[in-house]
Amino acid sequence: MPELPEVETTRRGLAPHLVGRRVVALDVRQPRLRWPIPRELRSRLPGQRIEAIERRAKYLLVHTEPGSALLHLGMSGSLRVLPATTPVGPHDHVDWRLDSGQVLRYTDPRRFGSQLWQPRGETHELLAGLGPEPLSDAFDGDHLWTRSRGRRAAVKLFLMDQAIVVGVGNIYASEALFAAGIHPARAAGGVSRERYARLAAEVKRILAYAIGRGGTTLRDFISPDGVPGYFEQELMVYGRAGEPCRVCGTPIRASVIGQRSTFHCPRCQR
Ligand SMILES: [Zn+2]
Repeated sequence: MPELPEVETTRRGLAPHLVGRRVVALDVRQPRLRWPIPRELRSRLPGQRIEAIERRAKYLLVHTEPGSALLHLGMSGSLRVLPATTPVGPHDHVDWRLDSGQVLRYTDPRRFGSQLWQPRGETHELLAGLGPEPLSDAFDGDHLWTRSRGRRAAVKLFLMDQAIVVGVGNIYASEALFAAGIHPARAAGGVSRERYARLAAEVKRILAYAIGRGGTTLRDFISPDGVPGYFEQELMVYGRAGEPCRVCGTPIRASVIGQRSTFHCPRCQR
């Protein structure tokens, strides 16, 4: 599943091809994505000039004068800018035809992604109630500490709660908790202020590193240039059950927290 770094990489890759361009027409071959593509998107977007492309959590917002297209890649979606003559494949569900002679093509074998519409001046319900961006100044150890008081949920679930902080998915939560030396099953309310400061710093470091590398570890992610967008990151714990911890040599342990697979070092994480 594309996580925040892949979405940010996608945004950066698309921006030079989209910003300032006009959307000439939409070719919707499959309107049934996670939610049906709404009529407003299909009627409002054609003819509009793209003003900017922004990321909020794992959503991309393509801003135009009357409103914004709200795009999500779901489990297996990708967005690429291609020559309009590029043959269409079976999972190429939507094309935005641009005045540059190119198309923005949305490909999604599993169709869990979405293309929605947010009128100017409104906030789509999917974006309401989201916590701060992890790379913003609003996200720090004090934020985590304050919001976690009295919470008995596992700290890993707390960190993955979109109302607390957006875009920290399973891989990055596992890796950040390892880097901060915090056991993923520990009660969120029992983690000290100092350890949350460390955790927030590690979340920022790991996400910034992943963005700098151009994305991830994900097999079905394709960068906007059409190049497989994953890089073999130095994952410390994620997906390494039974393999020796890179710090202490203890076998990495796999468990399930909140129905998500979790990996930790029983010696390095307390
Ligand atoms: Zn270890």
